[in-house]
Amino acid sequence: VTETYWLERAWLGDGDVVHGVVVTVEDGRFATVEAGVVESPAGAHRLAGLTVPGMANCHSHAFHRALRGRTQRERGTFWTWREQMYALADRLDPDGYFDLARAVYREMAAAGFTAVGEFHYLHHGPGGTPYDDPNAMSQALVDAARDAGIRITLLDTCYVTAGIGAPAEGVQRRFSDGSAEAWASRVERLEHLGGAGDDVVLGAAVHSVRAVPRDQVAQVAAWAEHHQAPLHVHLSEQVAENDACLAAYGMTPTRLLAETGALGRRTTVVHATHLTDGDVERLGGTGTHACFCPTTERDLGDGIGPSRRLHESGAPLTLGSDSHAVVDPFEEMRAVELDERLATQQRGHWSAEELLTSATTTGHASLGFEGAGRIAVGAPADLVTLDTSSPRTAGTGASLETAVFAATAADVVHVVSGGRVVATAGDRDEIGRGLDTVVNRLWKDPA
Ligand SMILES: [Zn+2]
Repeated sequence: VTETYWLERAWLGDGDVVHGVVVTVEDGRFATVEAGVVESPAGAHRLAGLTVPGMANCHSHAFHRALRGRTQRERGTFWTWREQMYALADRLDPDGYFDLARAVYREMAAAGFTAVGEFHYLHHGPGGTPYDDPNAMSQALVDAARDAGIRITLLDTCYVTAGIGAPAEGVQRRFSDGSAEAWASRVERLEHLGGAGDDVVLGAAVHSVRAVPRDQVAQVAAWAEHHQAPLHVHLSEQVAENDACLAAYGMTPTRLLAETGALGRRTTVVHATHLTDGDVERLGGTGTHACFCPTTERDLGDGIGPSRRLHESGAPLTLGSDSHAVVDPFEEMRAVELDERLATQQRGHWSAEELLTSATTTGHASLGFEGAGRIAVGAPADLVTLDTSSPRTAGTGASLETAVFAATAADVVHVVSGGRVVATAGDRDEIGRGLDTVVNRLWKDPA
């Protein structure tokens, strides 16, 4: 079956916005792309407004969505927020996690995300007892993404210790396989995940240098190298992590990752907030991706990382919504530039095109979806259409700057992911009701 779309205006993945684009879609991919078609051809689906490629949400913990609005009452710190997150984690089982993740991934789809990198560490049952299928929680996430119609890179996360030299305790036991070796043997059983489709990638993650001892970081890195899989790791989100790493190992977390073979083009470091000049050079020199999550970083009071210096040194930028305090790719994009303005008292660090590139092609490539994130022949057929006459976008020129500096997720009116229509403006109420039901149920049930 061939579907035809006419795009009133579109950004195809580089250059400027073009007018009148006809695309045909076969087997979930673009078969033809033709610009300069003034009138919508007969039989084509007409997409008015500005259409951009699908965006990649490169850092997600789906269950954190249930904390939105519930962690803001007391003043708190990153660490008190973490206590609330642990209380929530203890309430989830595979069925509950499927329901929650499906609702969250539908919210993402409606916001224009067509791929998610799920940094997944909630592996086991209460007390750390494995489920009958030790990968039941991973499978729930993959099934949820497929149901919502977005691609997923399951970043199965190694998490062993509470802090450097301290055993996992309390709910953290649900995160821990005990060792990187045990983590690897569980993950090996996941290799069938992708199945026949190309909508699932299996990747690896090291939770952080706090949660994985140095020799075991090396083991996870070796696993990722052997499988040529994406490798993600939380890096220097908090000054306390740097202090602990310096005290234990006499080096920064970045240097520890470099020395254990964990950096490189298949690797993404998440946050990269508190870095030395040497750290920036190491990350850039190895071509490691840096995933910024500005709406979460500001929610948690993490700080502002050196996004532009990382980019200049060779570390490509990607974006994620992490804790899902906000799920809005446009807000993440502009926050990178606006945070730099606040930090430097200067404007104009990142262009709209650079930020869109981070959110689309660079983000998808970092998740192992090479070639996705552009409207081009052979690429997965993702189309995210923005209303350019909403109260937010009207009068802004329907340009790249409209998308990056004016639009919000609420302006997304039509989303195609892999050739399938996964969200329209008409789905908003139902997506909201679904989230409401599943999150309320999660907090109401006895723990
Ligand atoms: Zn995270």
